[in-house]
Amino acid sequence: MRCERLISGPARKVSVTKITEMRRMISQIQQSGKPFYSFLVGDSVFPMPDYIKYREMEALCLGKTKYTHPEGIPELREGVIADCERQGIAGFNEENVIITDGGLEALYLAFKTVCDLDSEVIVPSPYYMFYPDQVKIAGGIPKIVPTSFAQGFKLTPELLEEAITEKTKALVLNNPHNPTGAVYTREELRTLAEVAKERELLVITDEVYDKYVYEGEYICFASLDPDLREQTITINSASKRFAMSGERIGWAVGPKELISCMINLKNYTTYGAGSVAQWAVAAALEHPEHTAEEIEAAIAAYRIRRDLMLKYLDNLKLRYVRPQGAFYVFPELPDGLIIPGYEKKDLSLSEKFAFYLLEETGVAVAPGIDFGSGNHIRITFIVDEKTIKEGMEKVGNVLADLK
Ligand code: PLP
Repeated sequence: MRCERLISGPARKVSVTKITEMRRMISQIQQSGKPFYSFLVGDSVFPMPDYIKYREMEALCLGKTKYTHPEGIPELREGVIADCERQGIAGFNEENVIITDGGLEALYLAFKTVCDLDSEVIVPSPYYMFYPDQVKIAGGIPKIVPTSFAQGFKLTPELLEEAITEKTKALVLNNPHNPTGAVYTREELRTLAEVAKERELLVITDEVYDKYVYEGEYICFASLDPDLREQTITINSASKRFAMSGERIGWAVGPKELISCMINLKNYTTYGAGSVAQWAVAAALEHPEHTAEEIEAAIAAYRIRRDLMLKYLDNLKLRYVRPQGAFYVFPELPDGLIIPGYEKKDLSLSEKFAFYLLEETGVAVAPGIDFGSGNHIRITFIVDEKTIKEGMEKVGNVLADLK
């Protein structure tokens, strides 16, 4: 049977990310035993805090391994509410919370909840690579809004205002930002909130890197003003915060009409998030003091690694916006680079450079095209210092040879 003809239109439209291709290439390098240096993925390199491990083992031993309801266990939803209160969002109850399989599922359920066939969702670019296609899968239209280097790759109220049409339903905002590392100030968020309020726009705000701020201050968007609670879905997750990305626990908080629709959709997909991991995260959110030290240690280490990475980029004279948070820096590739063997290939510079770099040196960086810019690469700076030193020396050698 020709299976290809069975694939639906929407499934065909979803892109295969370049990072996925790079991962395949990396496994080949791994199998061949050659050294490689990965700056590709954004997974915390520290283990998950001991307290969470113990609570998870306890849940397992107590047999808490059965189905949970689609909205998540009450203990974790209460933990999320307490966490919101610490972030400055008061007044939510359990009806305002859904527990999901990672922040990614929370995003998808939010898009699925608001998108009709012609609904537009504003996606500032550069963006976290899954937003546009998630909006498409949900049936909507991603309205990509380019931001500028001069503005630190941040959305401005003017750009937001210009992008709104009668079809616009929502804006997806990411703070701290992947891939640029930008962190919005209170004032910047306030001006965006004003436009959102005036134009009755839902703001889906992805704050999964909330703890990882090295300069400036993280401000939770919905905490700016009590009115925003009714027009914001705040998304967060245990993946980055507690270094437990494989356990797939995330959550969304927002207006109960929208959250109850997300819960209903979840009913038809995975039914509920993993039970044992929910108990572990519930304990972590109930007692933040038990994980604070390990999280602080990771943040301190990442700050040092970021600074080391930026020194290399400065020596290479690459242009970038200084990352204030998250795990990444997004440098621009020099103009006029010709990549040997790739001259005739119909690919963006970011792909040509990333593929060539990996083939020649075993260094993996993410092509910026996945994030909306074909002239940039995304480099994860939280890896250990030896990898940064050895990997970035190799990047420098390749750039010198290409010039
Ligand atoms: N949002 C952003 C900006 C991310 O970078 C990621 C993961 O890298 C996610 C959401 C998804 O996180 P989770 O592991 O909770 O699904």
